[in-house]
Amino acid sequence: MQFQISTLPGNARFPANEDETVLEAALAAGWLLPYGCRDGACGSCKARIVQGRIEQGQISESALSDEERTAGYALLCRARPRSDLVIEVRNSGRVGDFPVRKLPCRIQELRRAADDVMILTARLPAGEPFRFRAGQYIDILLADGRRRSFSLANPPESTGQIELHIRLVPGGQFTRQVFETLKVRDILRFEGPFGSFSLREDEHRPAILLAGGTGFAPIKSIVEHAIATGAQRKLVLYWGARTLGGLYMDSLAASWEGQLPGFRYVPVLSDPDASGAIRTGLVHKAVMADHPDLSAHEVYACGAPAMIDAARRDLIGHCALPAESFYADVFTFASDSSA
Ligand SMILES: Cc1cc2nc3c(=O)[nH]c(=O)nc-3n(C[C@H](O)[C@H](O)[C@H](O)COP(=O)(O)OP(=O)(O)OC[C@H]3O[C@@H](n4cnc5c(N)ncnc54)[C@H](O)[C@@H]3O)c2cc1C
Repeated sequence: MQFQISTLPGNARFPANEDETVLEAALAAGWLLPYGCRDGACGSCKARIVQGRIEQGQISESALSDEERTAGYALLCRARPRSDLVIEVRNSGRVGDFPVRKLPCRIQELRRAADDVMILTARLPAGEPFRFRAGQYIDILLADGRRRSFSLANPPESTGQIELHIRLVPGGQFTRQVFETLKVRDILRFEGPFGSFSLREDEHRPAILLAGGTGFAPIKSIVEHAIATGAQRKLVLYWGARTLGGLYMDSLAASWEGQLPGFRYVPVLSDPDASGAIRTGLVHKAVMADHPDLSAHEVYACGAPAMIDAARRDLIGHCALPAESFYADVFTFASDSSA
């Protein structure tokens, strides 16, 4: 059975079959709604069902509270329509011409950038263009059908290769392979690009870029794209890590100040810094200290769920950041139910 979905605001209209999710149907029809993990875990695709009925598949409780469910909110990546729907989304737009593709790639370099961070560079097949927006991610397809998400760290301008920043997860199926068994020239398969975590190009308000650990990867893509396109927007990057080693591309980030007018870099360590040269504390608290009023800013935050939750809560709650101006890519992990 097929239903009609429309969005407010934005007036996107698209059909959806009862066995596909609202997000899948929107993307298939060329509409880009906000989304992240596609796994019911990050909450980026949260939207209010204004009219109609859905079946909400399996999701993580932390991504959608009982109060939000009662207030009519749903996660579109796991919501299947059971009638025509009108949904309220934060924003919607056309997908553009970046088709999702499955491609192989050959590992070119594995560089240990920190104790628990590997920078993996891989070559794409010649003559197979892979286009994406800065800030998007790919899914690595594992041999057993499972998938693991990683943000693209290179800008879209560097064609022919991809760069991933991979943090070792203790006991992790894929990340352990990256650190222990994968070798240069091995082949990986991936699907992408996915995600809506990109700098809004029609926006001119100053933006805070907030990265925790390997949350730096999509931010790197975004800033290098801004440099390549000569963007004029005021951008301040706050990059947080536990120790100095965790700021594994610190000098690169600092060098962007000379390449992008209006760009500033603020490193922040959560462990005490013996030299006293670097700010310490929680990275989002540093943003709050420097910007007590964020009412005329946008924030793009990327990293672990706890950091994103705290930043969302405090920047909206205490610094007057409009809720719709907080964009996040949450590094949740695969539930493996989507394998
Ligand atoms: C959109 C998106 C983009 C991402 N981009 C990046 C990126 O650029 N760089 C990066 O390093 N990571 C990124 N991640 C997180 C990354 O996908 C996971 O860390 C990865 O899937 C772990 O795979 P694994 O097979 O090693 O671990 P698994 O075998 O899946 O997990 C092993 C154990 O560790 C737990 N676990 C897994 N991952 C995490 C985690 N991140 N934090 C805490 N516990 C965990 C699991 O619950 C399980 O108990 C991203 C996630 C999403 C959703």
